[in-house]
Amino acid sequence: MDAGGDKIQYNRILLKLSGEALMGDGEFGLDTGTVTRIASEVKAVHDLGVEISLVIGGGNIFRGVKAASQGLERGTADYMGMLATVINALALQGALERIGVQTRVQSAIPMATVCEPYIRRRAVRHMEKGRVVIFAAGTGSPYFTTDTAAALRAVEMDCDALIKGTQVDGVYSADPHKVPDAERYDVLTYHDVLSRDLKVMDASAISLSRENGIPILVFSLHNSGEFAKVVCGNGRFTMIREEI
Ligand code: UDP
Repeated sequence: MDAGGDKIQYNRILLKLSGEALMGDGEFGLDTGTVTRIASEVKAVHDLGVEISLVIGGGNIFRGVKAASQGLERGTADYMGMLATVINALALQGALERIGVQTRVQSAIPMATVCEPYIRRRAVRHMEKGRVVIFAAGTGSPYFTTDTAAALRAVEMDCDALIKGTQVDGVYSADPHKVPDAERYDVLTYHDVLSRDLKVMDASAISLSRENGIPILVFSLHNSGEFAKVVCGNGRFTMIREEI
């Protein structure tokens, strides 16, 4: 299958979205139009025959570190953050199923009446059957992030790539919204990201991807059709891998 005449480069991928990606122009929570648009981007890649899993953050609803800094016990705050990711996962599940994409949500914190528990082999089977699997509740443990959860699930699912959809079209030396002349990179090594402390994913996510040889691709969610292009090796993205 192809997007604009090009072949897919990855047969199985994990897409990481931050919770903020679902806010649209709002400052909190979910924007239905944005969730629907992201679902259609996922569908376009699914239609190419790519096996897809997703990890969604919860920062649009609740961030554990912030609440902890305001006095809530850190473990409790982190569990609240993980529950926020379940809300986002259900929102995206609804949007995907509305446009005819079969999905399963699997939560790292068992929630039998809401979704499946995380079972690695079952998740693989879902993807083989063409279902999009949405992993909720991060790693299920406090003191982690959904970036780390994304890298962990990508490894466990034996994905060919970990793809991060962000607000900008790749990795920059500084936030391009704040530093207009920030340098944009086409390719970086895992080592570059760690040693220069580039703000793309946290260090444990980068290390886990590195140890398991999973390339990380960073692209902008704002350009319609871009996700499908990225999966076909086109479009604008930063590639993070072992060697340049
Ligand atoms: N969280 C956690 N363990 C995990 C993943 C997430 O405790 O494995 C909590 C943590 O409090 C975090 C919140 O869930 O602040 C939301 O996740 P994250 O901040 O990674 O979301 P994003 O920034 O991607 O929206």
